[in-house]
Amino acid sequence: MRKISLILLALSHIFCLTVFFTIVAVSRETPPKPVNTLYIFAHQDDETDIAAKIASDVIAGKNVFALWITDGALSAPADVRERESREAMRILGVPQENLVFLGYPDMKSIDHLPDIHDKVLNTARKIKPDEITSNAYEGGHIDHDVSSFIASVVASELKPNPIHFEFSSYNIYKSVYRVGKLLPREGAKTLYTPLDGEIGELRKKATAAFESQAQALKFYESFIDKKTLRTRGEQYREAPAHDYLTRPADEPLCYETMIKPASSYDTFKKAVAAFIEANKSESE
Ligand SMILES: [Zn+2]
Repeated sequence: MRKISLILLALSHIFCLTVFFTIVAVSRETPPKPVNTLYIFAHQDDETDIAAKIASDVIAGKNVFALWITDGALSAPADVRERESREAMRILGVPQENLVFLGYPDMKSIDHLPDIHDKVLNTARKIKPDEITSNAYEGGHIDHDVSSFIASVVASELKPNPIHFEFSSYNIYKSVYRVGKLLPREGAKTLYTPLDGEIGELRKKATAAFESQAQALKFYESFIDKKTLRTRGEQYREAPAHDYLTRPADEPLCYETMIKPASSYDTFKKAVAAFIEANKSESE
Protein backbone atom coordinates (compact mmCIF):
# COMPACT_ATOMS: atom_id res chain seq x y z
CA MET A 1 0.00 0.00 0.00
CA ARG A 2 2.83 2.33 1.04
CA LYS A 3 4.65 1.48 -2.20
CA ILE A 4 1.59 2.40 -4.31
CA SER A 5 1.27 5.73 -2.47
CA LEU A 6 4.92 6.52 -3.16
CA ILE A 7 4.48 5.72 -6.87
CA LEU A 8 1.35 7.91 -7.03
CA LEU A 9 3.19 10.72 -5.27
CA ALA A 10 6.11 10.46 -7.69
CA LEU A 11 3.75 10.45 -10.69
CA SER A 12 1.88 13.52 -9.40
CA HIS A 13 5.22 15.35 -8.99
CA ILE A 14 6.24 14.49 -12.54
CA PHE A 15 2.83 15.70 -13.79
CA CYS A 16 3.12 19.02 -11.90
CA LEU A 17 6.67 19.63 -13.16
CA THR A 18 5.59 18.90 -16.76
CA VAL A 19 2.70 21.37 -16.46
CA PHE A 20 5.02 23.99 -14.91
CA PHE A 21 7.70 23.73 -17.62
CA THR A 22 5.06 23.73 -20.37
CA ILE A 23 3.60 26.97 -18.96
CA VAL A 24 7.09 28.51 -18.74
CA ALA A 25 7.91 27.45 -22.31
CA VAL A 26 4.61 28.81 -23.70
CA SER A 27 4.90 32.11 -21.83
CA ARG A 28 8.49 32.50 -23.12
CA GLU A 29 7.35 31.89 -26.67
CA THR A 30 4.46 34.38 -26.57
CA PRO A 31 5.24 37.39 -24.40
CA PRO A 32 2.20 39.72 -24.22
CA LYS A 33 2.32 42.30 -27.01
CA PRO A 34 2.85 45.77 -25.53
CA VAL A 35 0.16 48.31 -26.38
CA ASN A 36 1.31 51.11 -28.69
CA THR A 37 -0.44 54.37 -28.04
CA LEU A 38 -0.13 57.54 -30.12
CA TYR A 39 -1.07 61.01 -28.89
CA ILE A 40 -1.86 63.63 -31.54
CA PHE A 41 -1.73 67.22 -30.31
CA ALA A 42 -2.29 70.55 -32.03
CA HIS A 43 0.04 72.56 -29.76
CA GLN A 44 2.90 72.19 -27.28
CA ASP A 45 0.95 72.39 -23.98
CA ASP A 46 -2.19 70.47 -25.06
CA GLU A 47 -0.51 67.61 -23.14
CA THR A 48 -1.46 69.34 -19.89
CA ASP A 49 -5.13 68.46 -20.59
CA ILE A 50 -4.38 64.73 -20.74
CA ALA A 51 -1.14 64.41 -18.75
CA ALA A 52 -2.64 62.00 -16.17
CA LYS A 53 -3.63 59.56 -18.93
CA ILE A 54 -0.16 59.80 -20.49
CA ALA A 55 1.44 59.08 -17.09
CA SER A 56 -0.93 56.19 -16.41
CA ASP A 57 -0.23 54.71 -19.89
CA VAL A 58 3.53 54.84 -19.19
CA ILE A 59 3.03 53.24 -15.74
CA ALA A 60 0.86 50.53 -17.35
CA GLY A 61 3.81 49.62 -19.62
CA LYS A 62 2.36 50.99 -22.88
CA ASN A 63 4.71 52.29 -25.59
CA VAL A 64 3.72 55.96 -25.70
CA PHE A 65 4.37 58.08 -28.81
CA ALA A 66 3.37 61.72 -29.35
CA LEU A 67 3.07 64.01 -32.34
CA TRP A 68 2.48 67.78 -32.50
CA ILE A 69 0.90 69.22 -35.65
CA THR A 70 1.80 72.92 -35.31
CA ASP A 71 4.92 74.76 -34.16
CA GLY A 72 2.97 76.72 -31.52
CA ALA A 73 4.98 79.76 -32.55
CA LEU A 74 2.22 82.37 -32.11
CA SER A 75 2.80 82.58 -28.35
CA ALA A 76 6.54 81.76 -28.05
CA PRO A 77 9.38 80.77 -30.43
CA ALA A 78 8.99 77.26 -31.89
CA ASP A 79 12.24 75.98 -30.33
CA VAL A 80 11.10 77.10 -26.85
CA ARG A 81 7.77 75.36 -27.28
CA GLU A 82 9.37 72.14 -28.50
CA ARG A 83 11.84 72.19 -25.59
CA GLU A 84 8.99 72.57 -23.07
CA SER A 85 7.04 69.66 -24.56
CA ARG A 86 10.17 67.49 -24.56
CA GLU A 87 10.70 68.31 -20.88
CA ALA A 88 7.06 67.56 -19.99
CA MET A 89 7.28 64.23 -21.80
CA ARG A 90 10.55 63.41 -20.03
CA ILE A 91 8.80 64.02 -16.70
CA LEU A 92 5.88 61.80 -17.76
CA GLY A 93 8.30 59.03 -18.80
CA VAL A 94 7.88 59.14 -22.60
CA PRO A 95 11.15 58.45 -24.51
CA GLN A 96 12.48 61.43 -26.50
CA GLU A 97 12.84 59.31 -29.64
CA ASN A 98 9.05 58.73 -29.58
CA LEU A 99 8.28 62.45 -30.12
CA VAL A 100 7.49 63.91 -33.56
CA PHE A 101 7.14 67.67 -34.24
CA LEU A 102 5.58 68.43 -37.64
CA GLY A 103 5.98 72.22 -37.33
CA TYR A 104 2.95 73.49 -39.30
CA PRO A 105 2.08 77.15 -38.62
CA ASP A 106 0.19 77.81 -35.41
CA MET A 107 -3.50 78.66 -36.08
CA LYS A 108 -3.09 77.79 -39.79
CA SER A 109 -3.08 73.98 -39.77
CA ILE A 110 -6.46 74.04 -41.54
CA ASP A 111 -4.64 75.33 -44.68
CA HIS A 112 -2.46 72.18 -44.80
CA LEU A 113 -4.89 69.29 -44.27
CA PRO A 114 -3.67 66.96 -47.09
CA ASP A 115 0.02 67.34 -46.11
CA ILE A 116 -0.66 66.94 -42.40
CA HIS A 117 -2.77 63.87 -43.12
CA ASP A 118 0.01 62.22 -45.16
CA LYS A 119 2.66 62.92 -42.51
CA VAL A 120 0.49 61.71 -39.59
CA LEU A 121 -0.54 58.59 -41.54
CA ASN A 122 3.11 57.77 -42.38
CA THR A 123 4.13 58.18 -38.73
CA ALA A 124 1.17 56.10 -37.54
CA ARG A 125 1.92 53.31 -40.04
CA LYS A 126 5.41 52.97 -38.53
CA ILE A 127 4.10 52.99 -34.94
CA LYS A 128 1.08 50.69 -35.60
CA PRO A 129 -0.87 52.20 -32.69
CA ASP A 130 -3.52 50.19 -30.86
CA GLU A 131 -4.88 53.49 -29.53
CA ILE A 132 -4.86 57.08 -30.80
CA THR A 133 -5.71 59.95 -28.46
CA SER A 134 -6.31 63.43 -29.90
CA ASN A 135 -7.86 66.78 -29.09
CA ALA A 136 -11.66 66.63 -29.12
CA TYR A 137 -13.90 68.14 -31.80
CA GLU A 138 -15.25 70.97 -29.67
CA GLY A 139 -14.78 74.31 -31.46
CA GLY A 140 -12.20 75.45 -28.88
CA HIS A 141 -9.22 76.19 -31.13
CA ILE A 142 -9.35 75.55 -34.88
CA ASP A 143 -6.03 73.61 -34.68
CA HIS A 144 -7.58 71.34 -32.00
CA ASP A 145 -10.44 70.49 -34.35
CA VAL A 146 -7.89 69.77 -37.11
CA SER A 147 -6.13 67.36 -34.70
CA SER A 148 -9.48 65.62 -34.06
CA PHE A 149 -10.34 65.38 -37.78
CA ILE A 150 -6.90 64.08 -38.81
CA ALA A 151 -6.88 61.53 -35.96
CA SER A 152 -10.32 60.22 -36.94
CA VAL A 153 -9.32 59.87 -40.62
CA VAL A 154 -5.99 58.16 -39.79
CA ALA A 155 -7.67 55.83 -37.25
CA SER A 156 -10.15 54.77 -39.94
CA GLU A 157 -7.34 54.08 -42.45
CA LEU A 158 -5.12 51.93 -40.24
CA LYS A 159 -5.81 48.20 -40.20
CA PRO A 160 -6.74 47.03 -37.64
CA ASN A 161 -8.42 50.28 -36.60
CA PRO A 162 -6.97 51.67 -33.38
CA ILE A 163 -9.39 52.94 -30.75
CA HIS A 164 -9.67 56.73 -31.05
CA PHE A 165 -9.89 58.57 -27.73
CA GLU A 166 -10.40 62.32 -27.34
CA PHE A 167 -9.84 64.86 -24.58
CA SER A 168 -11.15 68.37 -24.03
CA SER A 169 -9.08 71.53 -23.78
CA TYR A 170 -11.79 74.21 -23.75
CA ASN A 171 -15.15 74.91 -25.38
CA ILE A 172 -18.31 76.99 -25.10
CA TYR A 173 -21.53 75.19 -24.22
CA LYS A 174 -24.82 77.03 -23.63
CA SER A 175 -22.85 80.29 -23.61
CA VAL A 176 -20.56 79.06 -20.79
CA TYR A 177 -16.78 78.81 -21.27
CA ARG A 178 -15.57 75.47 -19.92
CA VAL A 179 -12.11 73.93 -19.54
CA GLY A 180 -11.32 70.19 -19.53
CA LYS A 181 -14.99 69.27 -19.89
CA LEU A 182 -16.11 67.36 -22.98
CA LEU A 183 -19.14 68.57 -24.94
CA PRO A 184 -22.13 66.30 -24.34
CA ARG A 185 -22.65 63.77 -27.17
CA GLU A 186 -25.48 61.29 -27.15
CA GLY A 187 -24.30 57.81 -26.18
CA ALA A 188 -20.71 58.89 -25.44
CA LYS A 189 -19.46 57.67 -22.06
CA THR A 190 -17.03 59.93 -20.21
CA LEU A 191 -13.99 58.12 -18.78
CA TYR A 192 -11.69 59.45 -16.05
CA THR A 193 -8.03 59.05 -15.15
CA PRO A 194 -7.86 59.53 -11.35
CA LEU A 195 -5.11 61.86 -10.13
CA ASP A 196 -4.20 59.62 -7.20
CA GLY A 197 -0.68 59.71 -5.75
CA GLU A 198 2.12 59.60 -8.27
CA ILE A 199 -0.09 60.41 -11.29
CA GLY A 200 -1.34 63.68 -9.79
CA GLU A 201 2.22 64.69 -8.93
CA LEU A 202 3.51 63.88 -12.42
CA ARG A 203 0.66 65.87 -13.97
CA LYS A 204 1.52 68.89 -11.84
CA LYS A 205 5.26 68.68 -12.62
CA ALA A 206 4.65 68.22 -16.37
CA THR A 207 2.33 71.27 -16.42
CA ALA A 208 5.01 73.37 -14.70
CA ALA A 209 7.41 72.59 -17.59
CA PHE A 210 5.48 75.03 -19.83
CA GLU A 211 7.05 78.22 -18.50
CA SER A 212 6.30 80.25 -21.64
CA GLN A 213 2.60 79.33 -21.33
CA ALA A 214 2.32 79.83 -17.56
CA GLN A 215 -0.07 82.77 -17.80
CA ALA A 216 -2.43 81.07 -20.26
CA LEU A 217 -2.38 77.81 -18.26
CA LYS A 218 -3.24 79.75 -15.09
CA PHE A 219 -6.18 81.34 -16.91
CA TYR A 220 -7.46 77.92 -18.07
CA GLU A 221 -6.97 76.45 -14.60
CA SER A 222 -9.28 79.04 -13.08
CA PHE A 223 -12.14 77.59 -15.19
CA ILE A 224 -11.52 73.90 -14.41
CA ASP A 225 -14.16 72.08 -12.37
CA LYS A 226 -11.75 71.34 -9.53
CA LYS A 227 -14.14 69.17 -7.55
CA THR A 228 -14.65 66.74 -10.44
CA LEU A 229 -10.92 66.77 -11.15
CA ARG A 230 -10.15 65.95 -7.52
CA THR A 231 -12.86 63.35 -6.95
CA ARG A 232 -13.03 61.64 -10.36
CA GLY A 233 -9.97 62.73 -12.35
CA GLU A 234 -9.13 63.96 -15.83
CA GLN A 235 -11.79 63.43 -18.53
CA TYR A 236 -11.43 61.57 -21.80
CA ARG A 237 -13.64 59.26 -23.84
CA GLU A 238 -13.78 57.10 -26.93
CA ALA A 239 -14.33 59.62 -29.73
CA PRO A 240 -17.90 59.51 -31.05
CA ALA A 241 -18.38 59.47 -34.85
CA HIS A 242 -18.21 63.24 -35.33
CA ASP A 243 -19.72 64.85 -38.41
CA TYR A 244 -17.04 67.42 -39.19
CA LEU A 245 -19.32 69.04 -41.77
CA THR A 246 -21.60 70.08 -38.90
CA ARG A 247 -20.63 72.66 -36.29
CA PRO A 248 -19.38 71.05 -33.05
CA ALA A 249 -21.87 73.20 -31.12
CA ASP A 250 -24.92 75.09 -32.30
CA GLU A 251 -23.68 78.45 -30.99
CA PRO A 252 -20.67 80.75 -31.52
CA LEU A 253 -17.46 78.74 -31.09
CA CYS A 254 -14.43 79.67 -28.97
CA TYR A 255 -12.25 80.13 -32.03
CA GLU A 256 -14.86 82.40 -33.62
CA THR A 257 -15.27 84.64 -30.58
CA MET A 258 -12.55 84.30 -27.91
CA ILE A 259 -9.34 83.23 -29.71
CA LYS A 260 -7.38 86.00 -31.42
CA PRO A 261 -6.96 86.13 -34.38
CA ALA A 262 -10.42 84.64 -34.88
CA SER A 263 -11.11 81.85 -37.39
CA SER A 264 -14.48 80.83 -38.76
CA TYR A 265 -16.24 77.48 -38.89
CA ASP A 266 -16.82 78.10 -42.62
CA THR A 267 -13.04 78.04 -43.17
CA PHE A 268 -12.84 74.71 -41.32
CA LYS A 269 -15.83 73.23 -43.14
CA LYS A 270 -14.61 74.26 -46.62
CA ALA A 271 -11.17 72.66 -46.06
CA VAL A 272 -12.65 69.47 -44.59
CA ALA A 273 -15.21 69.19 -47.42
CA ALA A 274 -12.42 69.64 -50.03
CA PHE A 275 -10.29 67.00 -48.27
CA ILE A 276 -13.19 64.50 -48.16
CA GLU A 277 -14.00 65.17 -51.83
CA ALA A 278 -10.36 64.70 -52.92
CA ASN A 279 -10.05 61.45 -50.95
CA LYS A 280 -13.30 60.18 -52.42
CA SER A 281 -12.09 60.69 -55.98
CA GLU A 282 -8.71 59.12 -55.06
CA SER A 283 -10.35 55.95 -53.76
CA GLU A 284 -12.72 55.69 -56.80
ZN1 LIG B 1 -3.85 73.97 -27.99
